[in-house]
Amino acid sequence: MSRSTTLNISEAKARLPLPELMSKLGMDAIAKRSAKCPFHEDSNASFGIFPKGSDWYWKCHAGCGGGDEITFLEKIYSESQKSAIQRFKDLASGRPVNEAVSSVKTLFEGDKPSEPRSVAYPSDMRAPTREQIQEIAALRNLSDESVAWLAHAGVLHVGTVSGFPSWILTDARRLCAEARRIDGAYYPEQAGLSKRKAHTLRGSTKSWPVGLGISRPDLIKHFQCFLLVEGGPDLIAALHFALLFHRAALPITILGAGAGTAIHSEALALLAGKRVRIYPHDDPGGQGQEAASKWVAQLHRAGCNVDAFDFSDLRKACGAPVKDVNDLSELHSDDLDVLEELIP
Ligand SMILES: [Zn+2]
Repeated sequence: MSRSTTLNISEAKARLPLPELMSKLGMDAIAKRSAKCPFHEDSNASFGIFPKGSDWYWKCHAGCGGGDEITFLEKIYSESQKSAIQRFKDLASGRPVNEAVSSVKTLFEGDKPSEPRSVAYPSDMRAPTREQIQEIAALRNLSDESVAWLAHAGVLHVGTVSGFPSWILTDARRLCAEARRIDGAYYPEQAGLSKRKAHTLRGSTKSWPVGLGISRPDLIKHFQCFLLVEGGPDLIAALHFALLFHRAALPITILGAGAGTAIHSEALALLAGKRVRIYPHDDPGGQGQEAASKWVAQLHRAGCNVDAFDFSDLRKACGAPVKDVNDLSELHSDDLDVLEELIP
């Protein structure tokens, strides 16, 4: 007989008090005295948890209610008290929490006020060939391995976009996708669209950091560090350096970000409490820095340990300034020691 059936409620509460329960569900960021409520669109900090005697309680002052670990689970999973009690005992007795974590993710997905539009993927989207992987990597001066890894992870695909063979970045969450031509050239002016280097596929939600939607969301908790970059080439470049320096860091990217682009709330929930480093494009007068300072503030509120990498004063071998992560692949030999500190 499994140990779970022998735990009573007070034993379960002693083993898994509310702060630890919330941590187990990936909700560290709101496991505090004052935080944004997970049960309603909260612009204030209406939610909080607090100890009373030897027990813990939660409360939302905006009307979502309050209670103990069991009422918290009832509310999170929209389930009966009976099944919440069973779930709590199972969690407290150490049953694997994969199911619980993915259920919480489903909850965040289902909780969006407006459903994302579906992305218009090309009908011939598929995995890249070995030759295409080499072509994409060579054009950026990055390793074949980094491109192959992204293809294997289901993040990098190929297909025909606007009539040209293209590489396409998206992820299992299918919220956002961006294409670039495999030959590196611009898409010509066509059908009301101007000449452009990158083409965001119709229906994309630009606030979603591509790369974060991995097909096994329960694995996210194994990554303690996330590298938040801008654009497709920097996603490959960040992975290139993570592999080069053997860091267990997951690169994610905001594609086609403007100064006003905020990070998607579901992504913030996944990143809550994690180490995040942002690599803002160093483009004076551009939108990179403005967007990045907004992301720093958002991630900070989500309880992340967040900082931004500074590219200023770095030069490429040719003498030109380094503006992004991809430029670091051509770093001037005098500046090479900075690569040691690139990834936390
Ligand atoms: Zn509430």
